[in-house]
Amino acid sequence: MPANTLNRRHFLRLGAVASAAALVPHWLTAQAADMVAQSRATAAKTPITTTKLYDNLFLLQGVGGNMALQTGPDGKILIDSSYSTAVPGILDAIKKAGEGPAYTLINTHWHFDHTDGNEAIHAAGYRILAHENTRARLSSPQTIKAFGLSLPAAPAGALPTATFGSSFHIWKNGDSLDLVHFDPAHTDSDIYIHFHKADVLHVGDTWFNGFYPFIDESSGGSIGGMIAANVTALNIASDTTKIIPGHGPVGSKADLQRFHDVLSAIRDKVAALKAQGLTEKEAAAKKPTAEFDSVWGHGILTPDQFVGIVYRTI
Ligand SMILES: [Zn+2]
Ligand SMILES: [Zn+2]
Repeated sequence: MPANTLNRRHFLRLGAVASAAALVPHWLTAQAADMVAQSRATAAKTPITTTKLYDNLFLLQGVGGNMALQTGPDGKILIDSSYSTAVPGILDAIKKAGEGPAYTLINTHWHFDHTDGNEAIHAAGYRILAHENTRARLSSPQTIKAFGLSLPAAPAGALPTATFGSSFHIWKNGDSLDLVHFDPAHTDSDIYIHFHKADVLHVGDTWFNGFYPFIDESSGGSIGGMIAANVTALNIASDTTKIIPGHGPVGSKADLQRFHDVLSAIRDKVAALKAQGLTEKEAAAKKPTAEFDSVWGHGILTPDQFVGIVYRTI
């Protein structure tokens, strides 16, 4: 899919910049800011595609995290807001998808590829609902060490207007939604959203479908937390559930199980190398991901970058 290719290419460039971080951090920060600007520029040119998952539930995709939209007379519920520059296209897609006034935007977690559009969606009449850590992180400057990113606090209009701790429930448009906080996984702000009647589960960035996931160690993420989040989602999903990952195509429980098994196998291999006393670099040189790289190694992280994150967060 072209949008995903663009997204991956962009993040690959971010990765290349990050590897220069140790040499020239001041230069890197400027470059990283430029990369956010480039993402916004790409998002401005990328159309939003709409895929029907259920009568009144749609997948919206562009640049940035996968979005979902529930329509109906009780008000529209949007999950994640992509980049600010994508919002005109998102609002257009929302209008075309079906009836209902603006109601609520839900954020799966705080990362900018899922929340940069918050302010504009809020201005269009949506309140913003998220885990309390999403609001806390958006309210203050953040760093994403792995990409060498320093991000300012989000503007006031982009902040969640309502937050919850462990769980929240919504009954709207003929369906019931569970919003539940994962223990720290990809970040410490991750939630899943489960549409019971539609049989759809959005798991945010606890799942990258088809490639090694980014795990944000600067925000409390860890390989063990990711695997535990996958187990939680697998316990909720049935064989017919459509599962929306943060990035990549919608998949099934079997697809998520495969991702979980790959992460678990790599975690075990890297843990064994670390236990032998190998440094992060020495562990990566042993190529513990080799058997998976042909399928999983073509996403936003190189195999060595992924091994580094696994090593550091075990
Ligand atoms: Zn993401
Ligand atoms: Zn993320």
